[in-house]
Amino acid sequence: MPFFLNAKVRDLEPYEPIAGDYPVRLDANESFLQPDSIAFEEIIRAVESTAFNRYPDPAAGALCAAFAGYYGIDPALVTAGNGSDELLSIILTAFTQQDDKVITFTPDFSMYAIYAGLAGCDHMPFEKKDYRLDLTAAQGVRARVVLFSNPCNPTGLTIPADEIRRFVCSTPALVVLDEAYMDFSDGTLIHEVNDFENLIVLRTASKALGMASLRLGFAVTNERLTRALRAVKSPYNVNALSQAIGTALYNNHDRVRHGIGLIRARRDKLREMFTLISRQVPGKLELIGSEANFIFAKCSEADAVTAYLKAQGIIIRQFDGTLRITVGSAEENHALLTALQEFFGGEAYA
Ligand SMILES: *Cc1c(COP(=O)(O)O)cnc(C)c1O
Repeated sequence: MPFFLNAKVRDLEPYEPIAGDYPVRLDANESFLQPDSIAFEEIIRAVESTAFNRYPDPAAGALCAAFAGYYGIDPALVTAGNGSDELLSIILTAFTQQDDKVITFTPDFSMYAIYAGLAGCDHMPFEKKDYRLDLTAAQGVRARVVLFSNPCNPTGLTIPADEIRRFVCSTPALVVLDEAYMDFSDGTLIHEVNDFENLIVLRTASKALGMASLRLGFAVTNERLTRALRAVKSPYNVNALSQAIGTALYNNHDRVRHGIGLIRARRDKLREMFTLISRQVPGKLELIGSEANFIFAKCSEADAVTAYLKAQGIIIRQFDGTLRITVGSAEENHALLTALQEFFGGEAYA
């Protein structure tokens, strides 16, 4: 008998990052920072003290306490996940029923649509105007979940905390606020989750902490939703090594803050130089947003620019008519800006 895959998975493709060996990778919003030698010693100590024969702590207690300590929040409101991706998947499957409406806004993080589909939800993507998120578009729709990133990936734009507060109060839906990039901006709601019945804030160690390899994500929400989340996640979702290493790293507040400061400074510099280049080519390159560890720009020759950069060993992300470029090290940003300048026929950027 032939076996037919069910409709909701039939057309899905495995996630494939850009393959190949490229010296400058500015495509995945990773950090350009590696742990320094002291951090490496702490990581080695964390590995040495791991009980490899035992299951990890299901509550990831030490890790959640370290995360909460850095952000100045109550650890009882934190749930750890195997990346915030896992938490998105858990939230959308556990807190919805078949055919519930899930609202997202496009463009936004591509995984939202996939998890909403897998959960059997009725996914309603609202098109943004000029890349701007307008929550009032979702008002009055009886949705179960409203999901968006702030700052937004890929646009690099933010909306004010007050607009989000008003929206959360006005909707019966669960609002999932993905703050994966909030360390690079201002306006978090992470300290206010107890003020709302229906708000979950997501954070990750992949961007600001520069630890995408560990797969550590965090959901911050009120006690009732935290209890529900902890009840529905698989018990040992965060492995012991990631728990131990993440705990050590989040406990060093100065180092975390310093790393974020370095990335923000590089980002500001990249934005400044990118803007200078865009001014030389009116109508061809326009910066949209940069409140993250990447910049996002409209580009009339996005295909050609991306191909040109690739030929120089530089990988960025391209969406239709736009470019998303992760902030790299000083050398990586220099290589990028030089190649951009060459593409547009200007003098080499010095
Ligand atoms: C990178 C990213 C994530 C995924 O983070 P992980 O913790 O690595 O799974 C979530 N949301 C947004 C908007 C992101 O860009």
